[in-house]
Amino acid sequence: MNPDPIPVANPKAQFEAYRDEIETAMRNVLESGWYILGNEVEAFENEFASFLGAEQCVGVANGTDALALALRAVGVQPGDEVITVSHSAVATVAAIEQIGAIPILVDIHAETRCIDPALIEALVGGKTKAILPVHIYGQPAPMHEIMAFARKHGLRVVEDCAQAHGAEIGGQKVGTFGDAAAFSFYPTKNLGALGDGGAVVANCSETAENVRLLRQYGWKERYISVERGVNSRLDELQAAILRIKLRHLAEGNVRRRTIAAAYKKALGGGEIRLPSDVPGTTHAMHLFVIESDARDSMRSFLHGLGIGTALHYPQAIHQQPAYRGRLRGADKLVATDLLYRRILSIPLYPELNSQQLERVCQALRSWSDRE
Ligand SMILES: *Cc1c(COP(=O)(O)O)cnc(C)c1O
Repeated sequence: MNPDPIPVANPKAQFEAYRDEIETAMRNVLESGWYILGNEVEAFENEFASFLGAEQCVGVANGTDALALALRAVGVQPGDEVITVSHSAVATVAAIEQIGAIPILVDIHAETRCIDPALIEALVGGKTKAILPVHIYGQPAPMHEIMAFARKHGLRVVEDCAQAHGAEIGGQKVGTFGDAAAFSFYPTKNLGALGDGGAVVANCSETAENVRLLRQYGWKERYISVERGVNSRLDELQAAILRIKLRHLAEGNVRRRTIAAAYKKALGGGEIRLPSDVPGTTHAMHLFVIESDARDSMRSFLHGLGIGTALHYPQAIHQQPAYRGRLRGADKLVATDLLYRRILSIPLYPELNSQQLERVCQALRSWSDRE
């Protein structure tokens, strides 16, 4: 008899783990009679800011909106250029275009798979307004280099932290380095709601106040818009769920790193490239992404053993039909283009139990030992 398949992600397992707490919190919200932007949202905003060591947090509807509103709040306007990577969720570039700004693509560094700070300068011109680094897979981008560069050139920085809740550089959480940062609480993220959610984090109260205006029609007082805002509110149910899950985020990230260490041990010494240990950084291990020329056969081998895998992502943003041939910088993404043919994500979430972990490790070892 074949053992149960192990999915590459499993948000239901986390609901099961905290079911009682979550159901109680949800019932309380349902009975409170207040469903959007209320006490739960405010409490979550304070607790998440305090977890990060940030001054301000503003809950919004999803991570894409968080990026778009953060960019607007730090002063990015239609026609301004924003330097970012093509190795990310499509949301990164979609958010820039959503506000009428222009994405300019820069290559990644092969070690971190994040923006390569050495390549930014060549792209800066008169219209450049901001840099948008992505802490991809939970690996912090080199924020000290990026901030020093941005300050020197008068640029704004918005961090895409959608995959990096709790990641650190020198003990400081990502999301607190830039002028603002965007988080997503999509169900599979390290901190995931049971629906959509997002937040903008900032140390500047004026930036946070801008986001508060923009997320609700530009209202300063009810029904009176002083800016052209949008509707991007966080609801009370999601905030109540996030408050519970936030209490388990740090231990969940530790468990993710334990699983990652076991995978590294199982795969070490072979032809497979593993996620790097970048000195001075604490990886949030949102995804465990390996690289191999034999990616496709490895993938079928693992699927044959009931082990789920995924590609994050099957195509870089500049390779996708909606973007192909029209994004600036797309012709110089050597490291990005190389990476996409080789990447594979394997199961990684705190609820992966020790038997499942052992099964994945065994499969990885037998892949390494084949022939
Ligand atoms: C998930 C994700 C987003 C978008 O978040 P949503 O909540 O799905 O809108 C943005 N950037 C990155 C890197 C992501 O992984």
